[in-house]
Amino acid sequence: MAKEDTLVVHEIYASIQGESTFAGVPCTFVRTTGCNLRCSWCDTTQAFYGGTRMTRHEVLAKALAHDTPLVELTGGEPLLQPGTLPLMRELCDAGRTVLVETSGEADISKVDPRVHRIMDLKAPLSGESHRNRLSNLECLTERDELKFVLAGREDYEWMRTMIATHALASRVPTLLASTVFGKLAARALVAWVLEDKLPVRVQLQMHKYIWAPETQGV
Ligand code: SF4
Repeated sequence: MAKEDTLVVHEIYASIQGESTFAGVPCTFVRTTGCNLRCSWCDTTQAFYGGTRMTRHEVLAKALAHDTPLVELTGGEPLLQPGTLPLMRELCDAGRTVLVETSGEADISKVDPRVHRIMDLKAPLSGESHRNRLSNLECLTERDELKFVLAGREDYEWMRTMIATHALASRVPTLLASTVFGKLAARALVAWVLEDKLPVRVQLQMHKYIWAPETQGV
């Protein structure tokens, strides 16, 4: 079998999209195993190792079986596995709206142009900002979204500088700014964004509020 014919998958499940401009929309998630970064605040460390090797055909069939309009490849880092490129193409061919969440370290240039790429730019407090592949910025189109996950004021100021230095607002229609859960208060971020008139969309990680223990049973 060619290396694109199988993938190592951590899980495939249906939920709602918790982030991006698609937040709230029913979505099937294909979470691949493995990541070459180690962000200090990573909330999917369980996907670093393990998983199940499946044929791409099996992954496609399982993802389509959930029958949601949206399918997202996430991780880990999906673009580390060569099989994700043809898988995204096949999902698009099947009529799905396809998203990929990617760290910003991997090359995004080969992703099918029908796919919406939600690409991180890692801020300093992640410990991985030196891994940002800035050449990816040249590949972005109006389908794509850039995401900053912020753990403190230092990250916010870095984001503000990046937006200005790389004219990011003119590259993609949506710049997403979110806070690390429990590290930076969303209300502080909102105040800073208003003060600076920054062209970002502040977002909360909706799925964390839905599935948080204190919201259960109400
Ligand atoms: S890129 Fe994503 S999966 Fe990888 S360590 Fe960072 S937050 Fe975790």
